[in-house]
Amino acid sequence: MTLDRATIWPYDERGEPREFYYQRYGSPTVAEAERAVGELDGGHALLYPSGSGATTALVLGLLKPGDTVALAAGCYFGTSVTFDALAHWGLRHVEFDQTQPPPDGVQLVWLEAPSNPYLTMPNLEAAAAHPSPVVVDSTVATPVHLRPLDHGADFALHSATKYLAGHDDVLLGAVVCRDEADAERLRRFRTVTGIVAAPDPAWLLVRGLKTLGLRVARQTASAALLAERLREHPRVETVRWPGLGGLISFDVADAETARRVETSTRTIVNATSLGGVTSVMESRARWEGDRVPPGLLRLSVGLEDPETLWRDLRHALHE
Ligand code: PLP
Repeated sequence: MTLDRATIWPYDERGEPREFYYQRYGSPTVAEAERAVGELDGGHALLYPSGSGATTALVLGLLKPGDTVALAAGCYFGTSVTFDALAHWGLRHVEFDQTQPPPDGVQLVWLEAPSNPYLTMPNLEAAAAHPSPVVVDSTVATPVHLRPLDHGADFALHSATKYLAGHDDVLLGAVVCRDEADAERLRRFRTVTGIVAAPDPAWLLVRGLKTLGLRVARQTASAALLAERLREHPRVETVRWPGLGGLISFDVADAETARRVETSTRTIVNATSLGGVTSVMESRARWEGDRVPPGLLRLSVGLEDPETLWRDLRHALHE
């Protein structure tokens, strides 16, 4: 696919705009990436400059001041931080256990499949029976494991920064809409507010998507092996892995032990984020405070040889 960085394209010979005329209204490279993401999730995709940008654009585009979002407890903490930042624009949110039906009296239901870092799976059937629109942040599951729109969700949301792009060199977000009318409304809102994705990351996303299935299959298989071995390790308390995807969280005794373990690996990089070809691990308490157990470590399994990763973990756990 050609990377087209133009911000303008000429009008036709009658002086009328063609499909593309000014980048904020749409560009061929971003449109191509949207086609690819939409096909994966079975809906109409819109790209945004980041996953958090997608979250902001979605709630501002759908809701009005005074509306309340029912937010899955234990989901990506940045989502609640974004919602807090929008509180003075009149956005409210309440947390609920996403394995149970969402509460009444809310205007949007926000689930995460699986939640990051608690790795619970939402009760999609109960949420689909709720009268309000349902958003599923399926960043961690990816369309390889879950297509939320097939389960009654109205919107799937991705931090495409993670598995979809997959190489830790792209910041992007996506919202995939079940209904064309919702996509049209959000597209208009995106154009006028200017929360648009650029062609360069979109091009890298298209390239990353070509290996998504292979990457996620390998990451899932390696995560299964590591989760099983971590469960048997005497220094590991709780292991969370929902049986799909490459993300694991597990607890060691305390914050001090977690810090020692995360800084003792050689192959696994001590960094934030997830979903890339390189394995990364970090203690989440540094970001989330007492929202998580002090010894919680989040491990995003990459494409390295799983036996090398296990040796690395075992060595770090004994340091
Ligand atoms: N959703 C989930 C599940 C995430 O893990 C993240 C980032 O860590 C986001 C959304 C936000 O995405 P971004 O960092 O691309 O803004």
